[in-house]
Amino acid sequence: MTHTTYEAVIGLEVHAQLLTRTKIFCPCSTRFGAPPNTNTCPVCLGLPGALPVLNREVVVMAVKAALAFNCRVNPISIFARKNYFYPDLPKGYQISQFDKPLAEFGHLDLEENGRSHRVAIKRVHLEEDAGKSIHDGFADSDRYSYIDLNRSGTPLIEIVSEPEIYSPAQAHDYLTRLKVILEYLQVCDGNMEEGSLRCDANVSIRPAGSRTLGTKTELKNLNSFRFLQKALEYEIARQTRLLQQGGAVTQETRLWSTTEQRTFPMRSKEEAHDYRYFPEPDLPPLAVDVDWQREIRADMPELPEEKKQRFVAEYAIPAYDAGVLTTTRALADFFEETAARSRNPKAASNWIMGDLLRDLKEFNLDIESSPISPTHLAELIGCIDSREVSGKMAKDIFEAMFREKKPARQVIREKGLKQITDPDAITTVIEEVLAGNPRILEQYMSGKKATFGFFVGQVMKATKGQANPRLVNELLRARLDG
Ligand code: ADP
Ligand code: MG
Ligand code: ZN
Repeated sequence: MTHTTYEAVIGLEVHAQLLTRTKIFCPCSTRFGAPPNTNTCPVCLGLPGALPVLNREVVVMAVKAALAFNCRVNPISIFARKNYFYPDLPKGYQISQFDKPLAEFGHLDLEENGRSHRVAIKRVHLEEDAGKSIHDGFADSDRYSYIDLNRSGTPLIEIVSEPEIYSPAQAHDYLTRLKVILEYLQVCDGNMEEGSLRCDANVSIRPAGSRTLGTKTELKNLNSFRFLQKALEYEIARQTRLLQQGGAVTQETRLWSTTEQRTFPMRSKEEAHDYRYFPEPDLPPLAVDVDWQREIRADMPELPEEKKQRFVAEYAIPAYDAGVLTTTRALADFFEETAARSRNPKAASNWIMGDLLRDLKEFNLDIESSPISPTHLAELIGCIDSREVSGKMAKDIFEAMFREKKPARQVIREKGLKQITDPDAITTVIEEVLAGNPRILEQYMSGKKATFGFFVGQVMKATKGQANPRLVNELLRARLDG
């Protein structure tokens, strides 16, 4: 048994379904959930003689993604046939890209403990998705497999990183950032459960400090962020144990089992496919010239990192807050609308970062289905800023707004929660409180100034917290010390 310490090396291959309305090589709909085999035609059914025609919108979306990942887009890229047999692959090959992909040499910057870590992106290429096999039945005499070709020909991009990710947490961060960027661009919905974003992880270990790469295994079937992290942790521990016992890692593809919480072998290197790639004769080379690239770039929205920096500069909020507020485009829009309507960005940020995100999380809601709209939150902030309600009352009003989906003013009206700012009304309460506590008043007058807080508390209590605290303090001082 040796005591070498090992470090993990990870490379991710991510498939993202593009949000075009129609498929990559035919005009069939990409809509999810249609009855089986209804969104099909001779092209995506793989009928002999049918010819593919590239969907322009697919290229636009893929180029946006490639540019967002800082890639160089190749002026000419080549489609290639990737040959293999599978029942849900009717042509017997998948149209993909091989030695001349759409884009190369990109990168994505991660952040860990305030330090930046750059992961190089090897390539972004285009390909078509296969259909789906559905297996049904348990008894031998009653087992069926069904083929649904609705998904056949759905456009995908594959984003391949270099092996420059060094921990499961970094892999998680990489995938999160990648997903957020795709969502910002509105080129992929990022739904891992539905399979519109899929991730394979390649992982090896090597003695810490070594420059050479160890033998990798490839992990498939990671359809959530949690599984990605768990599978990597398991696999790193398994490989480490193997090497420490003097064994060796076998290059193979492994599957993650959620029920058993472990990876197990699917196929070895020897069983690996030889895809016999060759250039697709039915499609011309794809040309994306600089003008088209410029046009596509001009149409790209602000990305998370730029938005974060703008939030810090424009709204004077801390970088941490800006980071949280830009985690999704919808959340960022919610913040900006609230900030604009309330003319109080700091308060908008505080309410969203604190109470709103906490309540949304508690009820398992995302910002799109928030019961409080930016308009209503801005109204509440306005009520605080104009001293109609106190900060403490606002917390209760907020909770009622969230639960009952009502605007701030309606809650204030219905619950009679308006702040008391009338000095006469407060003075009346002060007199009552003093009259009701003669002994403590006596103590105060004989120099026990600490009882001041007691009177403030009593006045607030008598007004159910509705008296303006600043005014209570002022009036009480004037009455006692004046
Ligand atoms: P393959 O030809 O086996 O598909 P590639 O070179 O295309 O290998 O890389 C596929 C993925 O595996 C990439 O994301 C890459 O970063 C990653 N990768 C390659 N070698 C290693 C390694 N030794 N350890 C971890 N990941 C690796
Ligand atoms: Mg590969
Ligand atoms: Zn079709």
